Parts: sequence; C-alpha cells; structure tokens
Amino acid sequence: MNVSDTEIIFAILKKEGYERTEDINEADVIMANTCSVRDNAEQRIWGRIEQFNLQKKSREGVIIGIVGCMAERLKDKLLDTHKVDLVAGPDSYRTLPQLLRDIRPDKPQINVLLSHEETYADISPVRIDKNGVSAYISIMRGCNNVCSYCVVPYTRGAERSRNPRTIVAEACGVYHDGYKEVTLLGQNVDSYHWKSEDEDVDFAKLVEMVATTNPNLRIRFSTSNPQDISDALIETMAKYPNICHHIHLPVQSGSNAMLEKMRRRYTREGYLERVAKIRSVMPDCGLSTDVIAGFCSETEEDHKDTMSLMEEVGFDSAFMFYYSERSGTLAARKYPDDVPDEVKIRRLNEIIALQQELSLKSNEKDVGKVFEVLVEGPSKKGDQLCGRASNNKMCVFTDNQHIAGDFVNVKVVGCTSATLLCELA
Ligand code: SAH
Ligand code: SF4
Repeated sequence: MNVSDTEIIFAILKKEGYERTEDINEADVIMANTCSVRDNAEQRIWGRIEQFNLQKKSREGVIIGIVGCMAERLKDKLLDTHKVDLVAGPDSYRTLPQLLRDIRPDKPQINVLLSHEETYADISPVRIDKNGVSAYISIMRGCNNVCSYCVVPYTRGAERSRNPRTIVAEACGVYHDGYKEVTLLGQNVDSYHWKSEDEDVDFAKLVEMVATTNPNLRIRFSTSNPQDISDALIETMAKYPNICHHIHLPVQSGSNAMLEKMRRRYTREGYLERVAKIRSVMPDCGLSTDVIAGFCSETEEDHKDTMSLMEEVGFDSAFMFYYSERSGTLAARKYPDDVPDEVKIRRLNEIIALQQELSLKSNEKDVGKVFEVLVEGPSKKGDQLCGRASNNKMCVFTDNQHIAGDFVNVKVVGCTSATLLCELA
C-alpha cells in the first residue's frame, strides 16, 4: 500500500518539476512515507527523522516531510518535538506542491484532512520498482471495517472505490510499458464496489475486466477478507488462466472468542468453510495469512486454537505479529492489553516455528511439479534466476537464456521452507 502511495506522490511532484533521487545527500526535499499499523513500524521512523535532521543541519534549505498514516496520527509530536517542515496525510498528496511552496523556516505546513472521495484515480503513478516486471495498482482507499485492534480506519479514513475504467486504463498502460503482472491493492478488496448510472461493478467483475484486458498480463490482488470473499470471485479466478491462484486471507486468530473481540465478522468455522470452497474450485490455490499473537485476554486455549487452525489449513506462508496496542482503536479503549510481553513473544515464536514447518511441508508437496514462473531477475545469491509461480511461491533456478519479464516453465526438484528449488522444464 505504501509503495503505491509513494508512486502517487512521485507522480504529483514530477508534474511540478521535481526529480527523484536515491541519494539523500543531494535531495532538497526528504520525505518518509509512514505506516502506523504496528508500533515497531512507527518506532523506526523516529530514528529516520534524526538522520534526516543531520542532512538539514549540514545543508541549507533542506526540507523534511512526513507523509502517510503517521502524519495523521502523530502530527503534533512531529511538528513540535521533531521539527519536521511538512506533515501530509494519505488523502492530501495533491496539495503537496502548494505545501512545499509555502514552507518557511519557522512556518511548517500541515494537511492531514481525510476525504470521502479521494482515490487519485486520474494519477499515473511513477513506478519505483527496480525490475519493471510487476506493478501495483491501488483500486480503493481506506476501510469501513472496525477491527478492534486496527488503526487503519482512523489513519486512512473511510472506504472508497476507484472508477473501474481508470483501473483498466492503468493496467493497459503498465502492460504497454513492459510490465507482465499487476497486483490490485486495497485493505479489503472484496468490498470493492463502483456504481454509476450505467455500471455496477463488484470485485469479481473488476478482476474479470482487468484479466480480459490482455491474456498475457498476470493478475494478483491483496488483501481479501474472509467475511467478504465471494463465490463469484473464486469462480472468476478459476475461469481466467492469467489470474494467479493465490489468496492472501488474513485469519488473525483461530479462536472464536478472540475473533469476536477483534470484531472480525467471521468465525473459525466460517473461515474454514471459505478455505474449503477455494480448494474445491482451485485445488492448486496458494493460501497465505496474517496472524496476531497475544491479543487482549488471549488464553493458552485461544492460542492453541490459532495453532490448530493453522495446521488444519496448512498455510503456505504467513505474516505473524504480536499484538501492539494502537491508541484510539476500540481495543485500546475497551480491553486491557493484558497478555504479558514474554507470553506474547513466546506464543509468536511458537506460531512462527509452526508456520516454518507448514511452509516446508507445503513446499515438499510441490516437488516434482512443473510451474510457469514469471522471471523477476537474479536470485538473492545472484547466481540463479528467481520468479514466482501462480501460487505465489518463490522459485529459483539456473538459466542462461531468460531475463526478467520472461515466462518460463520450471520443474521443482527440491525446496527449503522459503523457496522452491527448480530446474528448467
Ligand atoms: N486489511 C487487512 C490487513 C491490514 S493491516 C486485513 O484486514 O486483514 C496488516 C496486518 O497487520 C493485519 O492483518 C494484522 O495481522 C496486523 N495488525 C494490524 N493491527 C495490528 C496490531 N494492533 N497489532 C499487531 N498486528 C496488527
Ligand atoms: Fe484494519 Fe480490519 Fe480494515 Fe483490515 S479490514 S484494514 S484489519 S479494520
């Protein structure tokens, strides 16, 4: 989400004549795009601001800006204690040029207003990825769910969907620019909905519209929500070969008591039913998830329920976190953050260890299979190529013939818990 926002910011500033630099020592404006979802993301930014301030001290006229979710949440601390020149929330990027013009040494500028309409639909993002293969397209902004632990609805505002015609046009544009894959982004893509006089487009329909722009353009999306993921979407995924068979379906907890307290609007049974549906339609579909350990009043029994659900589903991969209280959220107001840190960390470590086993098991099942992979570039070690299969698993293989952006068939000959080791098929 943040990469996509940064790309929008670059596009807005480029139009005003600004140029992007990767060398902080020559930047006149230094901005950090921030995330407030978990406390550690926020903590990292304070250190970055200190680094930025060193630049400001050593070079006259350097402007320091903080944009994104933290801007909205922590504007006073940013301006008063940390002396930044610019604070802009996620819905005010269009005003950045004006804000930058108005900055004076003792006159910082701030705009953290949230909007009910802003989707930046007309802005063509300046892509900042390195390989030119895979592009993100933001299809909606904000979120209307109020999961009790989550700060997103407060920092990014109400949910709004972007005109599907502009999304399709952007997908065509990136294909024209040489990209081979797009990922449609939103906090809850399944609740995407666009209604106008002559159109009524839900997420399944949108995915179909994008998939049919070009059969050679791969489609991915994130994030799906268990309460909203529809049969129509699952069937659309099965229908078009260029829609990747991977769903990121955050479960957060396997305990019904926790799910209710988290205000997730599904139960353990409901979640498992959706997984069963996905697998009945697409047996080869990759599944990943998000898990939170140690939410308010979580018992050992609740924790075991999470572990047993993970085993029952057999996720391919997961993002795993321990609960960090975010001020302003329902949980912060209503429930004491009463699981001791050492218990949270121990449970998180158990969850991580289990997921490693599950990832390895899932990868072992793929040994012997042939996958079509979109080459992203050299592998981490540099001596091989890497790319993702439709199920989102990372494949590495030796290949002197292909380059980033090529589609290649590979056979899985071995694996680790993180990677499929392959050879050309
Ligand atoms: N919209 C997505 C996720 C948004 S935030 C969804 O509904 O699933 C990404 C992930 O961060 C969440 O899925 C959750 O696992 C984690 N997260 C959010 N708030 C958190 C908090 N207060 N403490 C720990 N993890 C949190
Ligand atoms: Fe946060 Fe829930 Fe919205 Fe995801 S769906 S962004 S977890 S409020």
